[in-house]
Amino acid sequence: MSASMVENQPVSASHSIASLIEAGALGGPGRVAVSAPGRTPLTYQQLFDLLRRLKEEFRAAGIGRNDRVAIVLPNGPELATAFLAAAACATAAPLNPDYREPEFEFYLSDLKARALLVMEGLDSPARRVAEKLGITLLEIAGVPEQPAGTIVIRGPQSAGDHPADDFAQPDDVALLLHTSGTTSRPKLVPLTQRNLCCSAGHIAQTLGLTPDDRSLNMMPLFHIHGLAAATLASLVAGASFICTPGWDQGQFVNWLETLRPTWYSAVPTIHQAVLGVAKRGLPAAHSLRFIRSSSSALAPQLLHELEAAFHVPVIEAYGMTEAAHQMCSNPLPPLKRKPGSVGLAAGPDVAIMNEAGDLLNSGEIGEIVIRGPNVTAGYEQQPAANEAAFCKGWFRTGDQGYCDADGYVFITGRIKELINRGGEKIAPREIDEVLLSHPGVSQAVAFAVPHPRLGEDVAAAVVPREPGTLSERELRTYAIARLSPQKVPSRVIVVPQIPKGPTGKLQRIGLHKAFESLLKVEFTPPASPLEEALARIWSEVLELPRVGRLDNFFMLGGDSLLAMRVLSRVRALFEIELSVAELFEAAVLAEQAEIVEDRLVDADESENS
Ligand code: AMP
Repeated sequence: MSASMVENQPVSASHSIASLIEAGALGGPGRVAVSAPGRTPLTYQQLFDLLRRLKEEFRAAGIGRNDRVAIVLPNGPELATAFLAAAACATAAPLNPDYREPEFEFYLSDLKARALLVMEGLDSPARRVAEKLGITLLEIAGVPEQPAGTIVIRGPQSAGDHPADDFAQPDDVALLLHTSGTTSRPKLVPLTQRNLCCSAGHIAQTLGLTPDDRSLNMMPLFHIHGLAAATLASLVAGASFICTPGWDQGQFVNWLETLRPTWYSAVPTIHQAVLGVAKRGLPAAHSLRFIRSSSSALAPQLLHELEAAFHVPVIEAYGMTEAAHQMCSNPLPPLKRKPGSVGLAAGPDVAIMNEAGDLLNSGEIGEIVIRGPNVTAGYEQQPAANEAAFCKGWFRTGDQGYCDADGYVFITGRIKELINRGGEKIAPREIDEVLLSHPGVSQAVAFAVPHPRLGEDVAAAVVPREPGTLSERELRTYAIARLSPQKVPSRVIVVPQIPKGPTGKLQRIGLHKAFESLLKVEFTPPASPLEEALARIWSEVLELPRVGRLDNFFMLGGDSLLAMRVLSRVRALFEIELSVAELFEAAVLAEQAEIVEDRLVDADESENS
């Protein structure tokens, strides 16, 4: 064993989602499993009864164990129970509802989905894609007067040959998620019931969860962080989780007061927003016991400020889809947490490996590798990727780092090509492909640029077929129509050529340095009273002393949460409606001013007509 390797004790837990919930139901008749703002809570017994009923409904629709059920639902208690039911009875594959049609086409066909669950009455491009691909459409209907997460499934009945068999078993695949692979398009990660339950057990153990705990989930339930940490770890402990639609700065304090969570886990961008709210005032006595951060690096400064605001420990953890989330975590007091470190091995064994496959000693930098019962057996139908990912029984994370003498892991860099935009992982190849499909583009490379709030943001460099034919705005608009918002590059620079790496391949890593001067925008003062008013809004929201007319909202540190604040101020000041999509499209101040101006003219005309 290498000195840098930290071995963990195995955690005992039920090894299927249905048995976790059944165990919770045996824990007591009134024990709450799921709650949501403004809803009656759902007990473990009610959740288990719901699972049994939904199993019958799935079987009646011809869906058996290991059949793949894609889920496209808004965040909330219905998504939580739909996920639990699909995972307990079949294989769940929750997808980001913001995906555009071409994205759904890729994900749904790659998944070989047997059925798609959507919300009744809610339009989604996923419906059209499912129809085209011959995937059975099942509609979910919520029952608002019933406890949180109560749903019924409506759809075609199919004779099928599935007996009304048991729930899924420990080695059945419970969850399929795509990861933004290393140099290729997203790959499918199968996670068994056992993988998920072990990971949830590790998290519950790290956090010392008990049935008295309540987690506040503001993370999307199509990503492993929200699924494993908030949801499944709570179920392992017989604790409850609160399902919200997502971060909402107007509601956060209300949720703290009325739902009294004992912890929450989120990405640093949400913590930053929480801190903004906390600085304006917190309830006199809040109920939080600790705060957990994962999925992207937590700046020590933010950790300290959060601890000072809430007077509770803030612990950073290191997670990954392939590990069913948690790999390392800082421990809770009285053990020591080290700001800047992702903590101790917290579930799987963790070690540092060199390129040759040898384990390194503490202090030596190499690739972080893991092994344990929570780790996937391998990507689906990707022999080459699996060959590269597994070495001597260890899984290579693609992250670079070292262990200190106390066993705390520090991440120092990344070997894989993904872009980590505030915790959202993006495969740059997907963006390249979309830009390359534009008829005027001959070469395109997406790359990461440092971002003050998100850690990394997405930019792209494009070489046109004919010089002078392409504009940044046109290319971003093209990308917006084909990519979900978090993947759209904040900047697309048009360049005569893109540097090549030593192997002759277009270079991706380090491209932000090569194009630093092009990405930089010289300050140009606002040129009209409207631009000045908008610049004032931006500088207040972004907390910047000045903003110029050519500045890009995202490059100045903006993100989708701050964009919502700009929108509400624009609405209040100009009394017009502007959508998030429009703000995304017009990321430059002068462009946004043009849209506001057009909207004001329209409003004037309709008033006078
Ligand atoms: P995902 O599969 O979306 O959970 O992304 C996994 C990747 O997120 C890891 O391989 C890391 O690159 C990154 N990551 C997760 N947690 C942290 C953290 N605490 N600090 C820095 N990077 C992190």
